[in-house]
Amino acid sequence: MHERHPRQQLRRFRNEILLPNVFRVFGWRHKTRDGYVRFLCPRCQEFNTAVNPKTNLGRCFGCERNYNPIDFVIEVQACDFREAIAYLSPLLPPPPRVSEA
Ligand SMILES: [Zn+2]
Repeated sequence: MHERHPRQQLRRFRNEILLPNVFRVFGWRHKTRDGYVRFLCPRCQEFNTAVNPKTNLGRCFGCERNYNPIDFVIEVQACDFREAIAYLSPLLPPPPRVSEA
């Protein structure tokens, strides 16, 4: 399928690129309320949302949609999967260095 992006790499995109960071970089409206980061749902245009810091998923309680960073970029940029990965790549932290002792 996505042979250029092995499964483990995709997991890093979903888990290590924090959604609030994605909001910042894209200038997407968000705010912290009651200890949760809330963002404007790209579908509902409402703040009836929360980011779960444990799963790094943004949940909209209105349309009941979950957004991981890749889903979110696809939605707001109206782009495809490959383009979303390209947008997000600069946000990926460098992989942990494996010592070669
Ligand atoms: Zn929504």
